Amino acid sequence: MRLVLLGPPGAGKGTQAAIISEKLGIPHISTGDLFRANIGEGTPLGVEAKEYIDAGKLVPTSVTARMVEERLAEADAKNGWLLDGFPRTVEQAEILEELLNSQGQKLDGVINFQVDEDTVVARMLARGRADDNEDTIRTRLQVYRDETAPLIDHYGDALINIDADGEVEQVNARTMEKLGK
Ligand code: ADP
Repeated sequence: MRLVLLGPPGAGKGTQAAIISEKLGIPHISTGDLFRANIGEGTPLGVEAKEYIDAGKLVPTSVTARMVEERLAEADAKNGWLLDGFPRTVEQAEILEELLNSQGQKLDGVINFQVDEDTVVARMLARGRADDNEDTIRTRLQVYRDETAPLIDHYGDALINIDADGEVEQVNARTMEKLGK
């Protein structure tokens, strides 16, 4: 299966993605994790991305898309994947569509985690990752509203809406049920 995960920052995408990918036997490809790995290793891509991530802004699409394209070309991603954090803009969705088209592939679904803003802010503050301070969180939510939320309309019928407010297991159960797994 080829799946995309959507939802505001702090919606629990990473946590749920890890469980879904394990259950479906497909790799979990997280742009946030890929950026953090590059930052940790001090690669040129990591150095460039860090500036944007620390400010709560999106890393330029040219950089992000190339990183995703290279990751999707790896052997373990041949027969399916769960993309977490990409696409994050309509432009990125179009790049993904072109990439899939060029390989005669298509998305099987777009999982959209729905959770209110108060909940995501509380979760991010509790998690305390390097980019989880109050200013950055506010910026990321604004970026989500302006740039990522339009993907909900963009994907239309492909959207699988999940109520992401609840215990980790509960949210996973809702997701597996909607996926028919
Ligand atoms: P969260 O979903 O909690 O915002 P992520 O780990 O998915 O966290 O992303 C962390 C940061 O990495 C984002 O705030 C952004 O700066 C950058 N990033 C991740 N994915 C993308 C993307 N597709 N395009 C541009 N920047 C991205």
